Amino acid sequence: MICIFLGPPGSGKGTQAKKLMDKRGWPQLSTGDMLRSAISKGTQLGVAAKGFMDRGALVPDDVVIGLIAERIQAADCSKGFILDGFPRTIPQAEALDRMLGEAGRKVDWAVLFEIPDADLVRRLSGRRTCLNCGAMYHVDTLRPQKADVCDKCASKLVQRDDDRPEVIQKRLAVYHSQTAPLADYYRNQGKLKLLDATQGFDAVTEAVEKALR
Ligand code: AMP
Repeated sequence: MICIFLGPPGSGKGTQAKKLMDKRGWPQLSTGDMLRSAISKGTQLGVAAKGFMDRGALVPDDVVIGLIAERIQAADCSKGFILDGFPRTIPQAEALDRMLGEAGRKVDWAVLFEIPDADLVRRLSGRRTCLNCGAMYHVDTLRPQKADVCDKCASKLVQRDDDRPEVIQKRLAVYHSQTAPLADYYRNQGKLKLLDATQGFDAVTEAVEKALR
């Protein structure tokens, strides 16, 4: 199964992709996590990407396409994978179709997490992220057992630079102008599934399972 989780930042794609990865064993491929890892290691790619990310802009298509092209060839992707945060532009979606086509593979489903902007601002501004394992928490709705410490790997939790209010607005604007058109791209291919992402975590998990059944 090759599945894309589409949706605005903060819609719960990442958390649900991690849940599905634990349950079904399909790896979650998050370009955001890959870029943050490159930044924390101080690689050339990380240095180049940081400026775009900190101001809520998209990293250039060729950079993220290159990351995914390499990653999907790994052995753990042979039975399928979940793409979280990629593609984010039409050229990325076209490149993905090309890469998969050359390997005799294809996208099965694109699941769109639908949620109003007002909910996203609330979710993102309270979000805390583990820079080590990518686990996510929320200051009101999903607190870690020990303040500011990840339950899974005991690393420190931080507020991502791009989860600050002024950057959130920019990311949402970028989503609406550049990423939202992907819904029609996959609708036209008969692969789009819509999901109400305003529901509680377990209800969304159930909706994901139903969409992929
Ligand atoms: P995310 O963790 O998915 O919210 O991504 C955080 C940031 O990483 C985004 O705001 C972009 O700057 C960058 N990014 C992640 N994925 C992509 C992508 N597919 N294309 C361009 N930029 C991306």
